[in-house]
Parts: sequence; C-alpha cells; structure tokens
Amino acid sequence: MYDYLVVGSGLFGSTFAYEAAKHGKRVKVIEKRSHIAGNIYTENVEGINVHRYGAHIFHTSNREIWNYVNQFAEFNRYTNSPIANYKGEIYNLPFNMNTFNKLWGVVTPQEAKEKIEQQKKAAKIGLPTNLEEQAIALIGTDIYMRLIKGYTEKQWGQKAKDLPAFIIKRLPVRFTYDNNYFNDKYQGIPTGGYTQIVEKMLDSNLIDVEVGKDFFENKAEYIKSSPKIVYTGMIDQFFDYKYGTLEYRSLKFETETLDQENYQGNAVVNYTDAETPYTRIIEHKHFEFGNQPKTVITREYPQAWQKGDEPYYPVNNTKNNDLYMKYKELAESMPNVIFGGRLGMYKYYDMHQVIGAALVTAREEFNE
Ligand code: FAD
Ligand code: UDP
Repeated sequence: MYDYLVVGSGLFGSTFAYEAAKHGKRVKVIEKRSHIAGNIYTENVEGINVHRYGAHIFHTSNREIWNYVNQFAEFNRYTNSPIANYKGEIYNLPFNMNTFNKLWGVVTPQEAKEKIEQQKKAAKIGLPTNLEEQAIALIGTDIYMRLIKGYTEKQWGQKAKDLPAFIIKRLPVRFTYDNNYFNDKYQGIPTGGYTQIVEKMLDSNLIDVEVGKDFFENKAEYIKSSPKIVYTGMIDQFFDYKYGTLEYRSLKFETETLDQENYQGNAVVNYTDAETPYTRIIEHKHFEFGNQPKTVITREYPQAWQKGDEPYYPVNNTKNNDLYMKYKELAESMPNVIFGGRLGMYKYYDMHQVIGAALVTAREEFNE
C-alpha cells in the first residue's frame, strides 16, 4: 500500500516524506503525539505563537537549506539576543564586549583579552578536557562562575567537570559589541509559527498522516506494512534497549498566560545561578515582535530522563557515543530501516542540521 512508513512527524520525518512524495512515492506517517511537527510544534494562544517545546530559532549558513525552508514559510528578521539574569544582574549573551564591559568595566577588546588571559593563567588550564576547563580557557573564571557553571549543571544534571567540552563550543565568544547569539549568515522565526512548515510538507495526496499512533504498540505489523521504514524515534528503544539505555535529558515546561503586555522585555532570559530551578523563561510574543494585550511565558525546568519521559536532548558523552555506535552497527544490518533525526541518530542536531541530514538521506534514497 505504501512505499515508506515514516515513524515521527518531526522535521526529519516530514522533510523526508515531502521529498519522497516529490518522487511519486506513497508515504504513511505515524506520530505518537496528538499533533504533528515534533519539537518545533507551535500553537496559537491569544494570537501569540507559543513554542510548545522550548524556544526555536532557525539559523544556518547554508544557503540551500535557508532557501529550502523558506519555501514553507516567510521568515522575519528576529535575531536571537538572550540575556542572562544572575542574581538580579543582567548580562548580555553570547559572551561579547557588552558582557565584558558590564562585568569588568573594560572598554577595548585588548583589555578584555588581557583580563581573560590573566584568569586563564591563574586557573592553570592546559588543553581543555571537559566543559569547565573549556569554558575557563575561552572566557575566564568570572564568566564561568556567573554565567556558565550554574546554568550548565542545572541543564545537564552533572558537574561541568564531567561534561564534554563541545557543548560550550556551541556559543560564540566575541570581542565586538554584538549580542547576536549565532554566527550564521541566515536567521529568523517563521511568521505565523513553525507548525505551518510541517503542515505544508505533509500536505500531499501521496502522504497519509495518523497522529496518536505509537510504533511500539504494533511494531511487528508496522514493519510488515511497507518495504521501507524511516524511523525518527529513539534508536535504543527500536532495539528494545538490547545493549543498554542511552542517556537523555528531559525538560518540564510551565506555561502561563499573563494579563499584561510585556513581562520581561526579551524573548529569552536565562537564569544562570544554581538556585533558580529553571534555566530560562521564554516570552513568546517577542519572537514575532507581537503587541497583543496579553503575553504568554514559559519556564523551562531541566529534568532527569527515565523511560517514558520525553527525550529532549541526547547526552553525547563518550560512554553514550560508544553505546550509540553499537546500535548504529545493528541499524546498518537492517537495510530496510533508515534511522534519522535527533533521536534516531542520537545527535545534538539543530533544525538546519536535521533538514540537511534528511535531504542527504532522500538524495541517497532517490539516487539524485
Ligand atoms: P523530533 O522533533 O523529536 O521528532 C520526532 C518525532 O517522532 C516526535 O514528534 C515524536 O513524538 C515522534 N516519535 C518518537 N517515537 C515515536 C514512536 N515510537 N511512534 C510514533 N512517533 C514517535 N534547533 C534549532 O535549530 N534552533 C533552536 O533554537 C532550537 N532550540 C531547541 C530547544 C529545545 C528545548 C529543544 C529540545 C530542541 C531545540 N532545537 C533547536 C532542536 C530541534 O528541536 C531539533 O533539531 C528538531 O526538532 C529535531 O527534529 P527530529 O525530527 O529529529 O525530532
Ligand atoms: N550555556 C550556559 N549559560 C547560558 C547559556 C548556555 O552555560 O546562559 C551553556 C550550557 O551548557 C548549554 C550550552 O551552553 O547547554 C549550549 O547552549 P544553547 O543555548 O546552545 O543550548 P540549547 O538551546 O541547545 O538548550
């Protein structure tokens, strides 16, 4: 009946389904949640597009991916400039001259570099082997203590000393007065939210979508139902955790509608101390420069992950990456199943990377 069964209607599954339909293939998409779009799902509340699963800002330096995603929505000029609230003091992010000036009173890049160099020397950091050392090597002890340590240890539920260095390398360090969180060429928020992108991707006579269907409720039947499967759920779950469980980090979102126009003056405020239980508060209207009379805010609480919880982040340390390689080997012995996306590939992928990976998969599949 179908050429492909796609498990999961997130960005990977939907991009693949769209490409498959373009090649005349019939696709069935099943989704265990009650709605499509995975973690980029947005819903309209009081005229505001609420990012139900955390703040999502699209950014890429790849023109092909930028043009691709712009087929499905118009993007605004939003530039992510989160601020950090450390015990009531506000600092600009990412780490840049505004941050250094507020913290140390330095004015020139040279002064900022000297300050960081002094702190790095005092901390005796050689080649960084973990997140703590990497952070101090990049921006010194003061910023590490105020803006990184508390946030990171809440976010990951582990000591920064035990975390891989690469996580912090996601953030730019700049010696200019530039509060843009990303270095990428292209950036924005789809006007009208993200859900429309996935709706348009799946809007084809060749694609059938069923929400509220969990692959594992009927795995054997689903496997028989089509010659090829694109699976975007957890790779360890697919193999019944045969080699053990990969670690994930989960989140709890607490959303409130407030009877006021402007709660915090910015889309994203990070709480970087160790005591505040949430890592950030999102005020959704600011992603689209909204001026509705009300506002919607979401507090994001990091959570330990246990089977059955939403696995928002893979924890890509050496132990988990090694375990993933074992699952990947098993996956390669099943040519009729393609494993894709953040959970299927167990990678801390952003949206542009997920689209890129899905396009590579589609090209291989359709011999382009
Ligand atoms: P998902 O969106 O997770 O989709 C997988 C889908 O599969 C889900 O809908 C799930 O319900 C479904 N599924 C799983 N198992 C089954 C099953 N057994 N049966 C049926 N269905 C199943 N990226 C950016 O580029 N910019 C950002 O600012 C950004 N912010 C983020 C903030 C947060 C809090 C998080 C968690 C992620 C963020 N990301 C961001 C990353 C972005 O969300 C991902 O790159 C992207 O959504 C991954 O798409 P996916 O299809 O791989 O996975
Ligand atoms: N981070 C931090 N302080 C901040 C923001 C981020 O220490 O105010 C660290 C933290 O370890 C986080 C990492 O930088 O996990 C990557 O941040 P990013 O904003 O990319 O995280 P995401 O949006 O993926 O949750």
